[in-house]
Amino acid sequence: MRSAVGKLRYHASNGDVSIVDSKTGGQQGDPFEMLAYAASVHPVLGSILAKFQDDASAAAYADDLYLTGKLRAILPLLAHLNEVVPADTGMSFNLEKTRILVKDLLPADVHNTAKSLIESDDRLHTLRALVDRPEVFVADGIITVGVPLGTDAFVTAYVANKCQEISADIDKLDPLTDGFVHYQLVRFCQATRLQYLNAHIPKYDLTSYQQAQVDCKITDAILKKGTSQQSEQWSAQDKAWMRMRLQDSHAEGGFGITPNALTRLSAFYSSTARFVQWGGQLGDVAQSTFFPSTDLTDPATWHAPTLTRLRDIHTLLLSTYQCQHAPAPASPAPSQPAPPPSSQPSASPPTGVLVLAQLHQLASNAQPSSAVQIVTSLPTQRRLTRQLVQHHPPFITLRSLHLQNRPGEQQKLQTAQKYRAVADDSALRGEMQILEPQAQDAEPRNLFYSPLSFLAQITSHSQPWPLDLWQTFISTSLGAPVPILVHHPRTLCACRKHNLGNQPDHVQCCPSVGATTQAHDWAITQLQPLFRSLGHAVRVQTAVTASKGNQRGDVEIKDYLRHNGVDRTLVFDFSMAHDRWGATDEPSKNGQLCYPHDLNRTVREAAQKKVKKYQGTYANDHGISFLPAIASTTGRLDADFLRLLFWHAHRESEEFSRLTGQLAQPNPDAVHSKRAAFFNSLKSKIGHIVAKASAMRVNLNLSPAIPSPPRPRPNTSHAPLLYALNLSHHVLPPQGA
Ligand SMILES: [Zn+2]
Repeated sequence: MRSAVGKLRYHASNGDVSIVDSKTGGQQGDPFEMLAYAASVHPVLGSILAKFQDDASAAAYADDLYLTGKLRAILPLLAHLNEVVPADTGMSFNLEKTRILVKDLLPADVHNTAKSLIESDDRLHTLRALVDRPEVFVADGIITVGVPLGTDAFVTAYVANKCQEISADIDKLDPLTDGFVHYQLVRFCQATRLQYLNAHIPKYDLTSYQQAQVDCKITDAILKKGTSQQSEQWSAQDKAWMRMRLQDSHAEGGFGITPNALTRLSAFYSSTARFVQWGGQLGDVAQSTFFPSTDLTDPATWHAPTLTRLRDIHTLLLSTYQCQHAPAPASPAPSQPAPPPSSQPSASPPTGVLVLAQLHQLASNAQPSSAVQIVTSLPTQRRLTRQLVQHHPPFITLRSLHLQNRPGEQQKLQTAQKYRAVADDSALRGEMQILEPQAQDAEPRNLFYSPLSFLAQITSHSQPWPLDLWQTFISTSLGAPVPILVHHPRTLCACRKHNLGNQPDHVQCCPSVGATTQAHDWAITQLQPLFRSLGHAVRVQTAVTASKGNQRGDVEIKDYLRHNGVDRTLVFDFSMAHDRWGATDEPSKNGQLCYPHDLNRTVREAAQKKVKKYQGTYANDHGISFLPAIASTTGRLDADFLRLLFWHAHRESEEFSRLTGQLAQPNPDAVHSKRAAFFNSLKSKIGHIVAKASAMRVNLNLSPAIPSPPRPRPNTSHAPLLYALNLSHHVLPPQGA
């Protein structure tokens, strides 16, 4: 086996670097080590097994080896492997982990037979450890590559045990005091743990009860942390609604923690359908080994549990989850006109239809034409999960349930927004026009934004979220009373006219509240570095050119735009608007939505006010473009703010290509996917800043510890900044950068 001596550096959270010497063996976590391992060890196994091929067969996956055959053949084979493999590769078998699954006999009887065989044959002496332990011989099942294979009771017990482990691990996260870190660990490290098992266990009924428990455990943990235990007093119906909020997609205003009840369908479908596709490419002999008495191109012959389960899920996807078969490929009969070419499978968002290949096509060996190629391509697990969440019947029912109350309204406020990229009244009209799709019949570009989608971004330098701030974010998003306000009852506002109450509406609206300015100024310190990635000078607050007197926007980006061949500076003003009444003299109005039938109107009106205040003066007196950057306290963005992010992402992708020398051979697809990555990253950062600033506007009134702004970066070239941004898209920077 390979051996490598090296020094591993371990960076502790306080910045200390420790050195760990590595001596032998491969590097954990390096996917190529797995290949190197298999390439060096499997040929050795193969050459040994070739000598035993009449009596035994075997399968190996990395360092997991499975042998099957009669005991009299298996024991000498195992002894031989145990001798030769260590001699050839320097590795030894772990007999402690070896299990012998017996068929049609009692484990104790087989144990006795094995014992007498081993004791009477000197060549088997290395296996003596095996018969010392009766638990080696089992009849109910074994674990193969992490998946339980055996009786129903065995599988159920294994999954139940895993579910308990996960539940215990979720409890261990409870002491965390950063709410965002807690959320991300639960969502990405715990809620996903059953997916591998679920991709391989066909009998769902065996495990659905335990899995439902895990799904509840997960949402309970998030609700407990995010509402300061208030959720324990909610009615069953309220709780069902809140669970749906947590489990629903960001586009539907959810928190994106997909339940196992849905991911297990997509996990099983994707992996098994791919397995069938793979089977279709095998020769006849191999196919009959892996799929005995089965014709993969005829689902009526599918009787193995995995295949029947695949067929069941396929039917379910068609009947309940808005999936469809592609139209049959053009018939070769000359009399029939060919049907019009089918459109792209996933390019029909209005109806939400997802096109699936027909099951009999999965393993079809026929050389597909390009039209059929589209049809037989399988959706990714991620795409399938999105489909399942979108069309899950209980979610559809719940989404329409609470329309009239605060939790229902908060959900609507946090659903996806869609804006046309080009608009006549936009400050970036010319810029957006240049970026419109060029094709003759292309639809105008739309820009999408979901207020909670920032939760999906895992970044290395995310914002700290002290627990009380996190609780304000979660509780206001859910429409629940805000813990910090509940804990300070009858606190009088600075205006001396109103108590703060349990909901954030008054503090979010009252002009006397000082926290609003503090939160705003904090947000500006966060926005400034985002716009430095192109090398423009970015000034903020009092350093910004005044429009007149003391009036000025918040952020000035020097020579950011180009109009008629001349560089032009952009000033934008960031502000937040509340979607509800909170400081009117009509008490009955307070807490009501300002515009229940036009949810974007709050941010649109705030933007229009800013335009009126600044745009003319900046343009006429200073030759500067002005843009309003408006967000609502629920995270909705005004159109021009989103356009600014898209424009900036476009510029970042161009600049990145220029710096890395990729512009020499422009590849539109690469540029566009790069732009999408920069755009998503910017949207996440803005979403994060807005969510936090909104919560700060509430909390700073009661716990005035203002988070310290980050230390300013040393003034260097923008290129390292751009490379660092790119790193967060999980793409490596160019050599020598
Ligand atoms: Zn007030």
